[in-house]
Amino acid sequence: MEQKPLCVNSTPSSDNSKDIPLTDYSARDKPWDEHRSQAQDVMMIYDRAEQFERYAERISHCSGVLRFGQVIDQETGEIGLKLREAQFCRVRNCPVCQWRRSLMWQARFYQALPRLEQEHPKARWIFLTLTVPNCPVEELRATLQEMGRGWQRLIKRKEFKPVLGFIRTTEVTAEKKRPGYAHPHFHALLLVPSSWFGGDYYVTHAQWLELWRSCMRDDSIMSVDVRAVKSLNKDDPKTGLQRAAAETLKYSVKPDDMINNPDWFLAMTEQVHKLRFMATGGVLKDVLRQDDETDQDLIVADDVAEQPDDGARLAFSYRPSDRRYRRFARGDKVAD
Ligand SMILES: [Zn+2]
Repeated sequence: MEQKPLCVNSTPSSDNSKDIPLTDYSARDKPWDEHRSQAQDVMMIYDRAEQFERYAERISHCSGVLRFGQVIDQETGEIGLKLREAQFCRVRNCPVCQWRRSLMWQARFYQALPRLEQEHPKARWIFLTLTVPNCPVEELRATLQEMGRGWQRLIKRKEFKPVLGFIRTTEVTAEKKRPGYAHPHFHALLLVPSSWFGGDYYVTHAQWLELWRSCMRDDSIMSVDVRAVKSLNKDDPKTGLQRAAAETLKYSVKPDDMINNPDWFLAMTEQVHKLRFMATGGVLKDVLRQDDETDQDLIVADDVAEQPDDGARLAFSYRPSDRRYRRFARGDKVAD
């Protein structure tokens, strides 16, 4: 049975209202157009390769219809949209799913912070980036597996003993100079006791480099990047941590790298099949709950504040021809 569109106060009263872009309703939902448009490009790349046709098929159905509830902003009194229903493909490199997952992880991280700060009030954060020499994309799998073994050795070293917990993610970028080369690296957030700084435990930059070379058994490694996260800036206490968390918990492959280097991207997809791109340990072990996320997890993402609405569901559908979401009144519903 077809459901009747609801009469909703904020619906613009135009004859073509069904075609009004999502961004006209809600400027802050512009990222939907951007990420869904990237997904369209990625879908077309996968569609060219026989072994990835299924990925193309799944991405083509990703987040095709978004249904929003309308909530009143407590501060401004304005009516805003809040995503309530959508279906996601969960293909690893889908730009929409990567984006939602990154928001979800960052939100989970921030939700865990108060407890962590309470249990370890003086602990500090370190942001560590570990690289290895760039490799031909055909050797990416072997390189990532070797890096995983290097990391396992690292966390068993005495220098790592004082670390209270870690979150480690993998990022792969395309090398700019040599087509067909990949730059795999780890980002890690380490929670350390305050005694780390100025104490006997302290690991200097030169020592981190030596340590990583030794764990990787590779003296050609040229650099590591390690920085204390300044979380105690009283004007803006979370800025340093926010930046480090965003960098650690972002996409694993930049959508631009996928779209601008299709052959590299197809080879990369094959190489990373079923490899885990995240590891956690110590007191951060369960912070990110790496279970298979549901549609609901990706719908909520970072929008965790519970706000009631009147149950009306405004639908918007993605239009591949002009690469944006537009009003789709026939898809409106009333919440169950
Ligand atoms: Zn998707």
